Amino acid sequence: MTELWAMPAWKIHELYEKGKTSVEEVCRTLYRRIEEVEPSVKAYIKLLPEPDGKGADGRVTGSPLGGIPYALKDNICTAGIETTCGSRILSGFVPPYDATVAAALKKAGAMLLGKTNMDEFAMGSSCETSAFYPTRNPWDLRCVPGGSSGGSAAAVAGGEAVFALGSDTGGSVRQPASFCGVVGMKPTYGRVSRYGLVAFASSLDQIGPLTRDVRDCARVLGVIAGHDPRDSTSAVAEVPDYERGLLEGRKDDLRGMRIGVPKEYFAQGIQAGVKHAVMEAIKTIQELGAFVEECSLPHTEYAMAAYYLIAPAEASSNLARYDGVKYGYRSEHWSDLTGLYTKTRMEGFGPEVKRRIMLGTYALSAGYYDAFYLKAQKVRTLIRYDFAKAFERFDLLVAPTSPTVAFRIGERMDDPLTMYLSDVCTIPINLAGLPAISVPCGFSEGLPVGLQIIGKPFDEPGVLRVAYAYEQATEWHLRIPHLDGVEAAKRIARNDGQVSADE
Ligand code: GLN
Repeated sequence: MTELWAMPAWKIHELYEKGKTSVEEVCRTLYRRIEEVEPSVKAYIKLLPEPDGKGADGRVTGSPLGGIPYALKDNICTAGIETTCGSRILSGFVPPYDATVAAALKKAGAMLLGKTNMDEFAMGSSCETSAFYPTRNPWDLRCVPGGSSGGSAAAVAGGEAVFALGSDTGGSVRQPASFCGVVGMKPTYGRVSRYGLVAFASSLDQIGPLTRDVRDCARVLGVIAGHDPRDSTSAVAEVPDYERGLLEGRKDDLRGMRIGVPKEYFAQGIQAGVKHAVMEAIKTIQELGAFVEECSLPHTEYAMAAYYLIAPAEASSNLARYDGVKYGYRSEHWSDLTGLYTKTRMEGFGPEVKRRIMLGTYALSAGYYDAFYLKAQKVRTLIRYDFAKAFERFDLLVAPTSPTVAFRIGERMDDPLTMYLSDVCTIPINLAGLPAISVPCGFSEGLPVGLQIIGKPFDEPGVLRVAYAYEQATEWHLRIPHLDGVEAAKRIARNDGQVSADE
């Protein structure tokens, strides 16, 4: 039988209902697994003390996530639990309130295990800009787990959490999901409340689930989605029963679905192994009855440039609040107020965050606003139109999630541009505010590949339907990395960076 730590939430829930396991047993299994593999994976920034599962079985009744242990990315505020955003500048910040998503999961009876590692302020694609340590990919400990929600993805892949939440501004849920061989979804902008999510780029940020399979994704999304009066950008749109939609639909039949394959996503820079796996997946989708045809999103090549003006511009404004006065870190070396601000920010922010603040401040400055920021917004509109036009012909689009599989730790750190290219396939979707999922679709060089399915605004049900049909027809989601955690940790300690999970 599959170990409890490797099971999706819906299966654990079934065992609860049949009285075949208890919250106590599930928690114990998860914490033992964490003890075993966490020293080598380092998915968490903070682990909460092991709860006493006794008496917690009451949580299970009626709630689909009752008694399910999960993890939160450390940019999601948790009352009474330090929330660092992977940054020194927020160290010691203990939020006085829960983010709406954290409160929703608490209410659903899910059990928080801890807060996961991430790139500082979610700026990065590898978890390496974290102020603490890089997280390692459970499939190969020499590689990054992706980012910025790398800790959440690695925790799920390594069996250290049943599911996790991440945030996605330019790909930060989907790209690490793809690198770690798990399911990750960025919902439509406005589908999930951002209240209590530390802001990076407010017109792009969206919280999404990282899970073992598509059914769990639907289940978690159902709990966190919906209008929130505390976030005026959250949509007043009914939340469908995503999971029931999957189970009631015909999962082996995609007849009547029209699916577009944007050719620009297979252009230069895509690894042959990734392309092969994605093309095979597209064939499977076709065999399930969908009508598949190539299409074009002509402004794709400008998405990166637009994103790296818009996201830093918004970030430079959002991050102005970290001044050493209100929360977190404060420099000890200052003599006047300006000194307090500068020294705190100089010591508190890492190099990538400083780069973004400078880029954003420059793009917004009086003389350059029209040339950079305004122009980028116009390009954003063109990108939206590309998608809108494609969706006149197609119900959904499929593409790779990332042009490559996970890369080695350290490999891209000195080359920001190459690092930024990790998100070429995900960034346009954020600019257009659309829902998209990454599902495991094979391996290349022993590392997982992700298939991205993109939908119209609020068509999470359509995205999930195709993802589920594909998943049911394949077995990629059932693979788990072979992780000899303790042994690997010892080898890492001896010879840092030179170790693979398979060795
Ligand atoms: N890697 C992209 C960036 O660094 C996206 C990050 C994200 O989605 N939070 O901005």
